[in-house]
Amino acid sequence: MERKILIAGAGIGGLATALACGQQGMATQVFEKKQVLCEVGAGVQLGPNVLRLLEAWGLRAALDAVACFPQRLEVRSALTGALLGTLPLGARVVQRYGARYATMARVDLHTVLHRAVQAQGMAQVHLGQAVARVSQDGNAVELLTEDQRKRRANVLIAADGVWSHVRDFLRREAQARFTGHLAYRAMAKQSDLPESLRSDCVTVWLGPSMHAVQYPVQAGSMLNTVVLVEGAAPEHAQAWEQNAVRSELLEQLSGAHGSLQDRVRSMAQWRLWPLCGLPHLRGPQDMAFGRIALLGDAAHPMLPYLAQGAGMAIEDAAALAQCLQQGPSDDAQALLAYAQKRWHRNARVQARAQRNGKIFHATGLTAWARDTAMGVLGRRILDVPWLYQGP
Ligand SMILES: Cc1cc2nc3c(=O)[nH]c(=O)nc-3n(C[C@H](O)[C@H](O)[C@H](O)COP(=O)(O)OP(=O)(O)OC[C@H]3O[C@@H](n4cnc5c(N)ncnc54)[C@H](O)[C@@H]3O)c2cc1C
Repeated sequence: MERKILIAGAGIGGLATALACGQQGMATQVFEKKQVLCEVGAGVQLGPNVLRLLEAWGLRAALDAVACFPQRLEVRSALTGALLGTLPLGARVVQRYGARYATMARVDLHTVLHRAVQAQGMAQVHLGQAVARVSQDGNAVELLTEDQRKRRANVLIAADGVWSHVRDFLRREAQARFTGHLAYRAMAKQSDLPESLRSDCVTVWLGPSMHAVQYPVQAGSMLNTVVLVEGAAPEHAQAWEQNAVRSELLEQLSGAHGSLQDRVRSMAQWRLWPLCGLPHLRGPQDMAFGRIALLGDAAHPMLPYLAQGAGMAIEDAAALAQCLQQGPSDDAQALLAYAQKRWHRNARVQARAQRNGKIFHATGLTAWARDTAMGVLGRRILDVPWLYQGP
C-alpha cells in the first residue's frame, strides 16, 4: 500500500522533501503556515555537495538562469583589508568534487524548488494551514491544523524551521535560544554601486568578534552582503528578521578597514536576523520519533558560518526520500534509518560551523596565528573535502 506522507513547512527543506519524494514516485501533502510563499531578500551559498543533488533532481537549467558560479573565494582582514588567503572555486571545484559551487538569492532557490514541485505534480501544497497539534499511535500519525482540519498519514516530516512547533511535541527540552550572534543583511544592484565596490567572487572579511561575507546573486546583477557580529539579544529574538539601522552597524564596525565600511555604507536597506539555535544533535533519537521525523533547521539549526544550513536540509530531504522508498517497510523503522543516516553528519556540520565562528571572530594572538596559517596553507584550510564530497 502507498505510504501517506505529510510535511510541515514549505521552506527550502519542506519543498526539497516534497521534490525528493516525488522523484521516488511518492506523493506528499505539505502544510505551510504562511498565506503566500515568500522568502526574504537574502542569499545562500551552496557547495558542490548540494549542487550535486539539485542537478540530479533535474534543476540544472533552472539554476543556471538565476544562480552565480563564482570563480574564487577570497579571505581578507577586516582590519587592514589585506588578502589573507584564496580558495579557487569554478572549474577546480567541479574537477575535485564533480559539481559546482553556487551563490543565489534565497527567493530564487525557493522559487526553483517550488516550480519543480508544482511541475512534478506529486505534492499538494496547502498554504495558510499552520500545524497546531500532532499525535501518533501504532497505526498512524495525525495532524491538526490551526483551522481545525485533521489529516491522518503513515509519517509526518517536520520541516517547520528553527522555531518548529512540531518539535515542541517531541523534544520539550529543546527550546531554541539566541546564540549571541546577529546577522545584518543587505542587497544592492551591482549597477548602482561604484565600480570599485562591485564583485563577482565570494569575499569574507575576518575581524575581532565579527566577520562579513559578500557574494553576487541573481545571475550576478545583485550583490548580497552579510555582516555577523556578537551582541545582546534584540527585544524580539523570535522575529526572523527585523529592520536594522545602518548607522548602528557602522558603529560596530568603527575599527574596520575603510573598504569594508564603504561596502556597508553603499547599501541602504539593512535587515537584522538574531541567530538562534539548539544544542547539537546527540544521536538519531533527536531526529526520529516513531512516525515523525525532524528535518532541516527544525532538527539541527546551525550558525551560518559554514554556509550549509539549507544544504543540510536538502541533503536530509534526499536521504529521507531514499529511506522511505528503499528502506524498511515499517514506517517508524524507515524514519529511524533516515535519522541514523543523517544525524552524525548534521552534528559534525553544526560543530564545525560553531568552531568557524571562534576562528573567524578571534582576537589577539589567535587571530595572528589564523592569518599567518591562512597565508601559508591557504586553500588547504579553506577547502572542506569531507563536506563537499557529500555524505
Ligand atoms: C544569516 C544567514 C545566512 C545563511 N547562509 C546560508 C548559506 O549560505 N548556505 C546555506 O546552505 N544555508 C544558509 N543559511 C541557513 C538557511 O537559511 C537555513 O538553514 C534554511 O533556510 C533552513 O530551511 P528549513 O526549510 O529547514 O527552515 P525554514 O527556511 O525556516 O522554513 C520553515 C518553514 O516552515 C514554516 N512553518 C513554521 N511553523 C509552521 C507551522 N506550525 N505549520 C506549518 N508551517 C510552519 C515557515 O513559515 C517556513 O516556511 C543561512 C542562515 C542565516 C540566518
